[in-house]
Amino acid sequence: MSHVFHRHLKQRYPTAVGGEGPYLIDAEGRRYLDACGGAAVSCLGHRDGEVIEAVREQVGRLAYAHTSFFTSEPMEALADFLVERAPEGLSSVYFVSGGSEAVEAALKMARQYFLERGEPERRHLIARRQSYHGNTLGALATGGNAWRRRPFEPLLVEVGHVSPCYAYRGQAAGETPEAYGERLAAELEDEIQRLGPETVMAFVAEPVVGATLGAVPAVPGYFKRVREICDRHGILLILDEVMCGMGRTGSLFAAEQEGVAPDLTTIAKGLGAGYQPIGATLVSERIREAIAEGSGFFQHGHTYIGHATACAAALAVQRAIESRDLMARVRWLGDGLQQRLEARFGDHPHVGDIRGRGLFRGLELVADRGDKTPFDPARKLHAAIKRTAMDEGLMCYPMGGTLDGQRGDHILLAPPFILEEFH
Ligand code: PLP
Repeated sequence: MSHVFHRHLKQRYPTAVGGEGPYLIDAEGRRYLDACGGAAVSCLGHRDGEVIEAVREQVGRLAYAHTSFFTSEPMEALADFLVERAPEGLSSVYFVSGGSEAVEAALKMARQYFLERGEPERRHLIARRQSYHGNTLGALATGGNAWRRRPFEPLLVEVGHVSPCYAYRGQAAGETPEAYGERLAAELEDEIQRLGPETVMAFVAEPVVGATLGAVPAVPGYFKRVREICDRHGILLILDEVMCGMGRTGSLFAAEQEGVAPDLTTIAKGLGAGYQPIGATLVSERIREAIAEGSGFFQHGHTYIGHATACAAALAVQRAIESRDLMARVRWLGDGLQQRLEARFGDHPHVGDIRGRGLFRGLELVADRGDKTPFDPARKLHAAIKRTAMDEGLMCYPMGGTLDGQRGDHILLAPPFILEEFH
C-alpha cells in the first residue's frame, strides 16, 4: 500500500519515471503524449537541456535565500524580463510558488491598496460563475465552480458572481456578440450597484477560461467594457492568467489580445513549465506606489516566495520560448490544431463546440448537439475519457459537466509548444 495521500484514494496511478520532449514515460516503459501539459503546465515539454542546465547551475551556486534577508539575481532578472514584456502599467512582480498563491496575493494586494488609500470600505470582490481561481480559501471563494466550492462553503467569504462570457451557451439566438458582451457588462454594472460601488474592491476574471469551461475566450470588446466599468467605479481589474498566460494562447499575456491592461495579473503554470513550482502576481505602478509610499510593506508572505532556483528555472524557460520563437509556433500550431479538430469532430453528434486560442483548445461534449443538452454528469464521462486516453498513451484534460445544464463535459488540450506538427 502506498503511504502517499494521493489525489484520488480509490485509484492507482502509473509511476512517472521519465520525460522526453512531448512524452512522459512510466515505470513500465509506456509513453504518453502529453497533450495537456499536465494542467497546461509543461509548455516546453520534458527534459529541456537549457532549463536543466540553468537549474543545475543555480542550485550549485545558491539554491535559496529567504526574501526577508536578501534579494537574488535570478529573481531580479525574471522580474525585469516579465515587466519589460507585460501589459502597460504593470511595473513589479511578487513571486510565489503557484497559481493559488498568486491569486491570494492579488486579492490581499487589492485590499491593502485600498487601505493605504484610506478606503477601508472597499472589501467586496466580484468574479464569474463557472470559474476557477485556485483551491486555497480566498481563491476558492473567488471561483464560481459550484462543485469545488460546495463542501467548503461555510469557510468562504462572500463573493458576488456574475455570468461568464461563454458564447456557446450564453449568447441568445439572434443576439450579436457585441450585444451579448454589452448584456454581460450591464450585469456586472448591476452587481456593482447591488453591492454598492464604493464597497467593491476588484473584479476577477480569466481572459480565456481554462479548467472550468475548456478554453473559452470572451467575445470581442467584452474586456474593454469591463475595464471601462471598473475604471468608472474605481474598482481594480484582476486578470487571472495562471492557465492561459505565458504564451499559451499565442501572446505572452492573453490580455494583450483583448487590448486591456489589468491592475493585477496572476501567472503560474507556464511560467516555470513544471521545471520548478513558481507563480507570480504582476502589480501595477499605482498599487506599488500606494503601498511603497504608505506602510512600505505588503502584509503577506510565504517561506518560499521568490525562490532563487524556481526563478532561475522560469527565466530559462521564458528565454527559451523567446529565443526559439515558440510563440509564433504556438499560433501556427494552434491554427492547425483547430483545423484538425474541426475536420475530425466538426460533424460529430456529441461534439457541440470546438474553441480556444493558440495551443489552448477545448471540445465541449453534449448528449444532443441540437439543443446542447449536456450528458448526465452522473455518468462521469470525463473520468472514462481520461482513462481511455491514458490506455491509448494520450494525456488530455477532461472535465465534468453540470446537471443544471450550465456547461457540458469538455476536454481541454494544452500541448507543449515544441511539437513538430500534428499527425
Ligand atoms: N487560477 C487558474 C485560472 C487556474 O487554472 C488554476 C489552476 O488550475 C489556479 C488559479 C490555481 O493554480 P495552482 O493549482 O497552481 O494553485
